[in-house]
Amino acid sequence: MVLTVQDVTKSYPAAEGSTPVLRGVSLALSRGETLALTGESGSGKSTLLHLIGGLDSVDSGTIHVDGRDITDMTDTARAALRRSEVGVIFQQFNLIPSLTVAANIAFQARLAGAYDADHAAQLAAALGLTDHLTKYPEALSGGQQQRVAIARTLTARPKLVLADEPTGNLDEATASDVLDQMLRLVRDTGAALLMVTHSHSVARRMGRHVHLSQGHVV
Ligand code: ADP
Ligand code: MG
Repeated sequence: MVLTVQDVTKSYPAAEGSTPVLRGVSLALSRGETLALTGESGSGKSTLLHLIGGLDSVDSGTIHVDGRDITDMTDTARAALRRSEVGVIFQQFNLIPSLTVAANIAFQARLAGAYDADHAAQLAAALGLTDHLTKYPEALSGGQQQRVAIARTLTARPKLVLADEPTGNLDEATASDVLDQMLRLVRDTGAALLMVTHSHSVARRMGRHVHLSQGHVV
């Protein structure tokens, strides 16, 4: 298993007392699997992704990434595991404006000590970015910027890709193209993909589909 989530609970403190967001969530993903996560706005989808990505801590339960329990790790160890094994793609592209497209693509792989220029060039070509490598993000359309973010994530060869509504900021036709490319490339690399989406048509294109409701996965 690349990912095992077991009985995870999470609440956020609030003035009226803490409200449970996740009430015992379990799921598992093996290598090469693609899983869609749907749920109403506010159901806890992003919270779950943040916990799996090690960006926040669980209240109880365990999360194993590539066999290692991230809920029982120091922040430093968790950050190192995230850099080397996990790739995250958000709705906001989060590119670095002062870096060229090529440098943005290389950024994460360099941090992980896994940069391979040929692999980066192949991904850029597959995403139609070859003619844009020396440009800066601001000169690119939204769809192109998200393709850069996808290339940046996959260049680091993550075993697990977490995507939070990655096409949510794009128009429908662009979203469909970007999604096709992302699914194909993720499958080529053999990574497991957990993708949050509010679209059931998108969810149908993934290998499996779970729905988050009332703090549980159904
Ligand atoms: P989704 O991604 O499914 O729309 P979220 O995981 O973003 O849902 O949020 C789930 C619930 O947790 C919401 O009620 C939201 O207001 C609350 N929440 C999310 N993040 C925080 C936070 N950092 N502090 C307090 N409450 C939060
Ligand atoms: Mg969300």
